[in-house]
Amino acid sequence: MKIAIFPGSFDPVTLGHDSIVRRALPLFDKIIVAIGVNAEKSGYFAIEKRLDWLKQTFSDLPQVSVESYNGLTVDFCKKMNASYIIRGLRTSADFEFERSVAQVNLKLVPDIETVFLLTLPEYVMITSSIVREVHKHGGHIGQFIPEKISI
Ligand code: ADP
Repeated sequence: MKIAIFPGSFDPVTLGHDSIVRRALPLFDKIIVAIGVNAEKSGYFAIEKRLDWLKQTFSDLPQVSVESYNGLTVDFCKKMNASYIIRGLRTSADFEFERSVAQVNLKLVPDIETVFLLTLPEYVMITSSIVREVHKHGGHIGQFIPEKISI
């Protein structure tokens, strides 16, 4: 059984995240979308809300479950029996950062592979941080988030 973790902050979930999960589906038997909880950074939206929005977004996909975790992503992978980590790549800056994280993760646990999917061009400009900024100042974020959810 091929199990993958799609880790992130999902603060909030965007069309970019939704697209990555749906495109990754044929590659794995099960995908666990997982919010990494950082004790030092509480984030913008509450974890409970972020979990709820993720659950609603993927409610039509029985192969997808939603969790949150503390600590290292590779430790959470081991706990869930996942051998793959999914990450999306938008820009070369994403690539430089993700390469380091993936290479460190490989040093920590050699048998967990990170799999990268390129963002669809129409979603390259969508980042959770920009969506938060628009939300904070009262702008409409509907066009950046999955249709099923309302924030
Ligand atoms: P993190 O704080 O770990 O980067 P995010 O929630 O911002 O968490 O992103 C989680 C994953 O989703 C990352 O792999 C990121 O590259 C990917 N991602 C974010 N935005 C997009 C997008 N617009 N298109 C495709 N992938 C994206």
